[in-house]
Amino acid sequence: MLLYFASSNPGKLRDFSGMDLPLQLLPDFPALPEAIENGGSFAANARIKASHYSRLSSHSGWIVADDSGLEVDALGGAPGVNSALFCGRHGDDEANNRLLLERLRGVPTERRTGRFICVLVLACGGEVKAEFQGAAEGLILESPRGAHGFGYDPLFYSPAAGRGFAELTPEEKARFSHRGQAARALQAWLKQQK
Ligand code: IMP
Repeated sequence: MLLYFASSNPGKLRDFSGMDLPLQLLPDFPALPEAIENGGSFAANARIKASHYSRLSSHSGWIVADDSGLEVDALGGAPGVNSALFCGRHGDDEANNRLLLERLRGVPTERRTGRFICVLVLACGGEVKAEFQGAAEGLILESPRGAHGFGYDPLFYSPAAGRGFAELTPEEKARFSHRGQAARALQAWLKQQK
C-alpha cells in the first residue's frame, strides 16, 4: 500500500529516505490550503494535519502527517510544539539553533537533557485511522556538530548512537530517531492490515 506524505519539509523527507516505508510526497500538497496547527500537542497537531490534508486532497489514498519537535528540560519543554518557529520565523533552522544555544548558555552538560518527539498520523477521507509515536533522548551540544540532517540535528547528541544526529546518515539516524521509531510502529501496523 502506497502512503502519501503531507509535508513540504525536505528534512523530514530525507529522514524517510533512510527507512523502508512505501511513502511518496502527496502530489497536490503545495496547492492545498495550509492546516492551522493549533492543537497544543504533537499528537493533536499531527491529527489536525492528517485529517485536513486527507479531506482536501484529490488523492483518495492513505495520507501520513508528521508533527515533531524538540523538548528541552532546562527550558521547561520548549521549544516543543513551537520547534519550527522558535526564533519567530517558520523553518529558520540556523536562527532556531542560535537561539537554543543562547537560552542554554551556562547550563552544564548534565542539565542539557532533552528529547525529540515524533507523532505520525494516518488518515483517509478526512478521518484519522491510526497514530504512532517515537521519542529519542539526548543532550543539547554546546556547538554544532556534523553536516547531515536538518533542524536541531547539529545540536543533538544521541548517547544511544554515540554521535550527534547530524553526524549520522539517514539510514543511521532512522535506527535511533523519534521518526524511525514511529515509522517502525507504522510499518508493523501496516503488516497487520494485510
Ligand atoms: P513541524 O513541521 O511543525 O512538525 O515542526 C517540526 C520542527 O521540529 C522542525 O522544523 C525542526 O525544527 C524540529 N524537528 C523535528 N524533527 C526533527 C529532527 O529529526 N531533527 C531536527 N529537528 C527536528
